[in-house]
Amino acid sequence: ATVPVCADGAPLWRSALQDLGPAFYTALPAVPLPDPHWIATSADCACDLGIDANWLASDAALQLLSGNAAPEGSETRASVYSGHQFGVWAGQLGDGRALLLGEIDTPQGSREVQLKGSGLTPYSRMGDGRAVLRSSIREFLVSEAMHALGIPTTRALALTGSPYRVRRETMETTAVVTRTAPSFLRFGHFEHFAAAGKHKELRQLADHVIERHYPECREGATLGNPYADLLQAVSERTAAMVAQWQAVGFCHGVLNTDNMSILGLSIDYGPFQFLDAFVPNHVCNHSDNLGRYAFDRQPNVVYWNLYALGQALQPLIGEPERVVQALDSYKRVFPSELTARMRAKIGLSQPQPGDTELIDGILRLLADNAVDYTIFWRTLSHAVAGNAFEPVRDLFADRAAFDAWLLSYSELLSNTDKALAANLMLETNPWIVLRNYLAEQAIRTAGAGDFSEVHRLLALLAHPFTESPGHAAYAAPPPDWASHLSISCSS
Ligand code: AMP
Ligand code: MG
Ligand code: MG
Repeated sequence: ATVPVCADGAPLWRSALQDLGPAFYTALPAVPLPDPHWIATSADCACDLGIDANWLASDAALQLLSGNAAPEGSETRASVYSGHQFGVWAGQLGDGRALLLGEIDTPQGSREVQLKGSGLTPYSRMGDGRAVLRSSIREFLVSEAMHALGIPTTRALALTGSPYRVRRETMETTAVVTRTAPSFLRFGHFEHFAAAGKHKELRQLADHVIERHYPECREGATLGNPYADLLQAVSERTAAMVAQWQAVGFCHGVLNTDNMSILGLSIDYGPFQFLDAFVPNHVCNHSDNLGRYAFDRQPNVVYWNLYALGQALQPLIGEPERVVQALDSYKRVFPSELTARMRAKIGLSQPQPGDTELIDGILRLLADNAVDYTIFWRTLSHAVAGNAFEPVRDLFADRAAFDAWLLSYSELLSNTDKALAANLMLETNPWIVLRNYLAEQAIRTAGAGDFSEVHRLLALLAHPFTESPGHAAYAAPPPDWASHLSISCSS
């Protein structure tokens, strides 16, 4: 670690949102959580942050990261935001169960550190400020899994638990996830001040984000206005992120504007799902009755969210045409990023004639035959590496249709370096993803006080492209009971 730390190895804290005033947050302490215990820490995240491993194993860290002690030198804060939920303006929301511990310097730059599940805040509304163990295990694991897949995301440093119970459908024990990101600001933060007509604060917020995270937008060099450039840069980053979701088969589940990071990070993991069978209109959130956030609707609904951000920034941008121009970048970047990602999945680092037809063709076949998405791509990667396509063929009920596709694919591969293609595919198509049932198994054993499955999953998911020979079951087709799991917003 080359970053400054306190004498005991604790990070050196500063208050988060330093250049913003009290209009943006409420300063308050965490609500202590009784008898906290460790569930897991991410050594990989700690290492990236330059956080001392000994400190992270200490009781001081346990107390801090469960909300039982305050960080020295930093004022802890809950921020205020608003947002559109399921397409409807929801008014004021905010960090209802999250608390910014502060900001630290890391080898990657400065990072905000936030507790989730740390008790009531002025923004808790009807909630209790807590997070239950099951949803916290899911968020902890998927944060680190997404990072290892190379998908922009908030990270998870630690997971602590407590025997303290809260009511959801039943009484459940609680937990706290320690999350980190360069910033936890959301589209909803901008919507909040725009909706209230507080243009001074809106500008302050936008300036803060540009100064800290988008310095290239400072001069407004592209669209003639810094805030239009900001909107364009956010649109581009967000487009690239969603393209990665679609390529890996990730369904977020709750794409409300308050769950959209201004940095284009995947954030606020609730009823997310990595697809098992490829069902394009799959809805992973049991509470999403209309299927607004179905897998294949994600690209459009994210554009809708960007449009809401564009409306919020309109007072700073001025001309409406500039807002439209900035948002248009999404329509360029998303398709080109998605095509590049899908091309890599079939082994191409460069465009080839007929490549998009092949991609569309295989996606249609995967859907028609309800083939497991992750297994298909990994098996295809091995087939290209070893020239044995029988195991891929066996995944399809309609073998004739697959054979026809394979004929065109083989033709295309004959114009490329097979070994290079296979390598690219094995680095692009993960061996393991955090399927719902895998998370569920870890949740069930954790409920009985055994966290070994959380640790095992964390270790496997940290290397999603490396097959772990002793753990073949983790990459096998999901058991029958997996299709009966129902994950809702309850968390
Ligand atoms: P989410 O759907 O989890 O993104 O949360 C939407 C809003 O509800 C945010 O403002 C959260 O802080 C708040 N919220 C969710 N669960 C709770 C809870 N148990 N206690 C307080 N606030 C909550
Ligand atoms: Mg949220
Ligand atoms: Mg939340």
